[in-house]
Amino acid sequence: MSDDSAPIPQPGILDIAPYLPGKSGAAGSNSVKLSANESPLGASPKAVEAFRAAAEQLEIYPEGTSRLLRTALAEVHGLDADLIVCGNGSDDLLHLIAQCYLGAGDEAVMNRYGFSVYPIITKAAGASIVMVDEVDYTADVDLLLAAVTPRTKIVWLANPNNPTGTYLSDAEVRRLHAGLRPDILLVIDNAYAEYVTAEDFAVGQALVAETKNVVMVRTFSKMGLAAARIGWLFGSPELVDVINRVRGPFNVNLPGQLAAAAATRDVEFTARLKAHNAQWRDWITEELDSNHIHVVPSQGNFVMLLFPDAEHARMAFTALMERGLIVREIGPSYGIDHGLRISIGSEQAMRGVVGIIKALVKTA
Ligand SMILES: *Cc1c(COP(=O)(O)O)cnc(C)c1O
Repeated sequence: MSDDSAPIPQPGILDIAPYLPGKSGAAGSNSVKLSANESPLGASPKAVEAFRAAAEQLEIYPEGTSRLLRTALAEVHGLDADLIVCGNGSDDLLHLIAQCYLGAGDEAVMNRYGFSVYPIITKAAGASIVMVDEVDYTADVDLLLAAVTPRTKIVWLANPNNPTGTYLSDAEVRRLHAGLRPDILLVIDNAYAEYVTAEDFAVGQALVAETKNVVMVRTFSKMGLAAARIGWLFGSPELVDVINRVRGPFNVNLPGQLAAAAATRDVEFTARLKAHNAQWRDWITEELDSNHIHVVPSQGNFVMLLFPDAEHARMAFTALMERGLIVREIGPSYGIDHGLRISIGSEQAMRGVVGIIKALVKTA
């Protein structure tokens, strides 16, 4: 061994392009963050109260299986609590799924503009990611199925998808599942399920219950609890057993468990967020969709704007930034360099965005 040898990471790790989070304003600035799909109405007051109450028990390890939270989720969503696993954000669970079901020589399939965490966790597990073309910024079932090879072990599907906001109907998701070998795991990431208004959409839970190779992953992050880091999955008894063997024994902190359980039961707050989002998502879409800008119809709590070219997108990004409205550039993470992703914020923020972009279009 030469003296300059050093620890070497596992194959694939150095091929990972690090995740790029949405930009935040400078500390103490008045800027409005519309770059990370956070709640514009804060958190459920009941969740905040539960989080505070947890401060009295900080010296005690949390209950390791998040039982209180699983019980609340089971009640509200009509599920078996034994088939739920909670995580430190859904990222925690997505990582565990990749670690448990992917290895060297395996492939995972995803649509090209699917969530940027999937390539990271696939490569971290030593497997390769297969990127599949989309049609109109929407996952295409036939193209996904055509990309499956004997090496395929996982299909990652964000539904609705981030950053595009597009979705697959229940019928299309079922057609995708029906075309997969039974040894391929279909991961349905329903991070934005609470915001969907399309009537032909369904969350993945029925398919999980009817089959053996589907898992549904959900999060509280887009519903007002991003800082608490709580995600959950619903899967087959076999998958739940596998994930529970590998996850950290206390992977969800106590304040997070209690806050998420309270948020789950606060269905009135969830409904209020959904209504606010639908109103302003419709409004910004109608106001800005034009000859100049295409607003891709969204089922999430954000919209993707497509400008004529990267320069126009950059100009809009800068103009918004100068007025304290921070949106997401999706060139760097997703290669959509003529696009911007804008989270649905307060009425004031939405009116600000629309006013600034319309003024730009007029002078362009
Ligand atoms: C935000 C997001 C997540 C991650 O959520 P966390 O629970 O905060 O880790 C997962 N999937 C998609 C598609 C997302 O947009």
